[in-house]
Amino acid sequence: MAERRNNIYFFYKRDEKTSAQVKSLIDLANEHEFNIVNDYRNANIIVSIGGDGAFLQAVRKTGFRDDCLYAGISTHNSLSFYCDFHIDDIDKMIEAITNERVEVRKYPTIQVTIDNSTSFYCLNECSIRSSIIKTFVMDVFIDELHFETFRGDGMIVATPTGSTAYNKSVNGAVVDPLLPCIQVSELASINNNHYRTLGSSFILSGKRKLTLKISPEGNHYPIIGMDNEALSIRHIEKLDISLSDKVIKTVKLKDNSFWQKVKRTFL
Ligand code: NAD
Repeated sequence: MAERRNNIYFFYKRDEKTSAQVKSLIDLANEHEFNIVNDYRNANIIVSIGGDGAFLQAVRKTGFRDDCLYAGISTHNSLSFYCDFHIDDIDKMIEAITNERVEVRKYPTIQVTIDNSTSFYCLNECSIRSSIIKTFVMDVFIDELHFETFRGDGMIVATPTGSTAYNKSVNGAVVDPLLPCIQVSELASINNNHYRTLGSSFILSGKRKLTLKISPEGNHYPIIGMDNEALSIRHIEKLDISLSDKVIKTVKLKDNSFWQKVKRTFL
């Protein structure tokens, strides 16, 4: 028999309005014999309340756990990419997670290692951008191949679920999360007789490693973004980026596939 997940951790902004909304959620969860835990390490279900930004933060602040189920509850007018449930339709969520045969959807994540030491994960994307009004230069390697020298504002390396976020705003492709891959998109590259880049986004297999070596020439204090958080390390020489072996599990619902979300949001 499938083991029932029943330890829930709620992740939310502790303001008055959200706390009141969460209070009724807690009552409902108790009625259905869930334990509300105050430490995410004891949870096997982690629920974010807010929007996509809250979901991204919930995953980050709880350490990208791949041994529990994440669920996003939207407090906005509509559902969004990571919020499959609406705060006014909690019965749907209780029904989904009390089902003994919860079907799970797995979202790939990327792992970024800085200067062979610090490592972090991203669910949407890792972005690297110039922090001053000057371009910066990076050498781009695919595995050990020197692929191009980039000069411009920066680059976005997106996961499949992140492909509909920042990546899409710079004309990157929307990628099915069933494909384990990473997508690299440019931010305003300079293309002239000295600098030449591919110009289009490219998608790498999950088996490849992308390396961005920041040239000491010019501005080498870029801002590194991990989803919706900026990294505080200032001096960076090299980023190694690849698909990680961690996946984020969410509840699979009927009529809410990735492509239904894409259609609902963009078409
Ligand atoms: P935010 O408040 O700036 O909102 C960004 C918007 O992107 C929200 O509407 C959110 O619902 C949506 N979003 C987030 N993840 C998404 C996804 N995977 N697919 C489709 N839409 C998505 O910031 P936030 O809510 O904290 O979200 C952070 C994300 O915003 C970053 O990870 C990045 O992808 C994105 N972003 C986009 C741009 C841009 O498009 N120019 C610039 C910066 C950040």
